[in-house]
Amino acid sequence: MTKVVIIGGGPGGYEAALVAAQLGADVTVVERDGIGGACVLTDCVPSKSLIATSTRTTYVREADALGINVPEIHDGKAEVEVDPARINPRIKALARAQSDDTRARLVKEGVQVVLGEARLVDPHIVAVGDQRIRADVILIATGAHPRELPSAEPDGERILTWRHLYDLDELPEKLIVVAPASPAPSSPAPTSPSVRTSPSSPPASTSCPPRTPMPPRSWRTCSCDAA
Ligand SMILES: Cc1cc2nc3c(=O)[nH]c(=O)nc-3n(C[C@H](O)[C@H](O)[C@H](O)COP(=O)(O)OP(=O)(O)OC[C@H]3O[C@@H](n4cnc5c(N)ncnc54)[C@H](O)[C@@H]3O)c2cc1C
Repeated sequence: MTKVVIIGGGPGGYEAALVAAQLGADVTVVERDGIGGACVLTDCVPSKSLIATSTRTTYVREADALGINVPEIHDGKAEVEVDPARINPRIKALARAQSDDTRARLVKEGVQVVLGEARLVDPHIVAVGDQRIRADVILIATGAHPRELPSAEPDGERILTWRHLYDLDELPEKLIVVAPASPAPSSPAPTSPSVRTSPSSPPASTSCPPRTPMPPRSWRTCSCDAA
């Protein structure tokens, strides 16, 4: 039986694992954070949950104009407070539940799941801590990570990547979003009037090489309604 080891348990890794298992391979997935990967834990799923919060916030703010009596109105809009300290634990719990479901599905299909940081020590050996896993085929599906500018390294407090958002206890009073415009369909609408997004390329003065512009993407490749 062909022994397949997959490094990375995101959609790339777990889908490949399911197919390989269904085709009769002996499959192991090594994942350091959680099955489902960044997609489930910080990207697709949590962002849809955030968008759901944002959408409902906008509904309530604009309810008065539609004839619904709301207690506090300022400048024609309802006073609504968005509380990240309540939103974020809910988002993380949803993401963790989906990760657990995906892991259970893999196990049910006969895939072995190893939690830990994988290292390739040989063309046929993956190391996870002291464990050595021999493989005929190794698939590296380790995903991507946020691009960091040397002049503005994320610290999780003043300079954030989107992965830091889920650790915020309160909304920043002012926020500048530096991002290419193309993934806009996934961007939540601002939850506070003082938050404005500014889709743009990183400042030209940084030492990073210019990037090739990405074509607009369709986000319809996975079902991510986590509201
Ligand atoms: C905010 C946001 C919203 C998005 N929304 C959507 C959407 O709605 N629909 C959509 O289709 N796509 C969406 N995407 C894109 C989607 O998240 C990625 O395309 C997808 O996650 C890529 O899957 P992957 O398996 O390649 O990588 P990942 O999901 O990043 O998984 C890679 C995994 O590898 C693991 N890993 C890395 N190195 C190691 C190692 N050495 N040992 C063990 N494990 C390791 C990581 O922990 C990670 O879990 C969104 C992205 C972002 C940022």
